[in-house]
Amino acid sequence: MQKDQLFTRRRVLLAGAAAAGSAGTAGIILADSGEGTVKAAAPAPAPGPQARQALKPSAFRLQPLTGYGPPRTKPRKLKVRKEPLMQISDSRRQMMLTFDDGPNPDYTPHILDTLAKYRVRAMFFTCGECVVDNKELLARMADEGHVVGNHTWTHPLLTTLDRGEIRSEMERTSDVIEDAYGERPQWFRAPYGAWNKAAFQLGAKMGMEPMAWTVDTTDWETPGTGTIIDRVESGAAPGVVVLSHDAGGDRSQTVRAIKEWLPYLLDSGYRLTVPRRRT
Ligand SMILES: [Zn+2]
Repeated sequence: MQKDQLFTRRRVLLAGAAAAGSAGTAGIILADSGEGTVKAAAPAPAPGPQARQALKPSAFRLQPLTGYGPPRTKPRKLKVRKEPLMQISDSRRQMMLTFDDGPNPDYTPHILDTLAKYRVRAMFFTCGECVVDNKELLARMADEGHVVGNHTWTHPLLTTLDRGEIRSEMERTSDVIEDAYGERPQWFRAPYGAWNKAAFQLGAKMGMEPMAWTVDTTDWETPGTGTIIDRVESGAAPGVVVLSHDAGGDRSQTVRAIKEWLPYLLDSGYRLTVPRRRT
């Protein structure tokens, strides 16, 4: 995708968010800081004179103290699946790259740099507790055309949680992603690939399709950069979804490996893609 197209998309996101803000809770809009980041203005504890004027007192009192931003977009309910999607159903020579557990300020920017160098887009399944401290990285992902998915808030084993706990893990993460990225995630991935009925049902209700993977780089075991490269290159095939990690431990091997295997895949004729948006 061309850079100007990316910026156009970003503007559309901002315009939509601003419209939602003006129709609902006063005082919170998404604004462009001028530094290429999208920031949700938090409920200000000490608003300046201009902010005071802009807010009606009643609206100010109604402002939630712990919310993340504007009124939420209502998700479209989806069909409840029994299994996650794990490959691209496309006969062409396409593959998809996914990066889990981030964002992480030490590793994610390097991965984004490499993707940008080769003009490749990827999916990032992010955890809410990492997003909340690194919102600018999600703004960058939006700018550069990547797709952000929901990977829960704290990365728990969902099969050990009750339905309410799973809902909270998923919902809070979609909220913070919406604030940082500009739209709610349309994809969900269960930590450890441990799915259960509640995860499928809640994901569908929140407008997210479940996505697994085909090839695990097992980079989380830090097996060595060469091993990670081998796993991607030998696992490459049409429709494959590759799993890597940009957080959750020392990911310097992952960062080094992608610099090798990404050009290899491109030279081998693979087109690296992201899911088509439903809207
Ligand atoms: Zn994970």
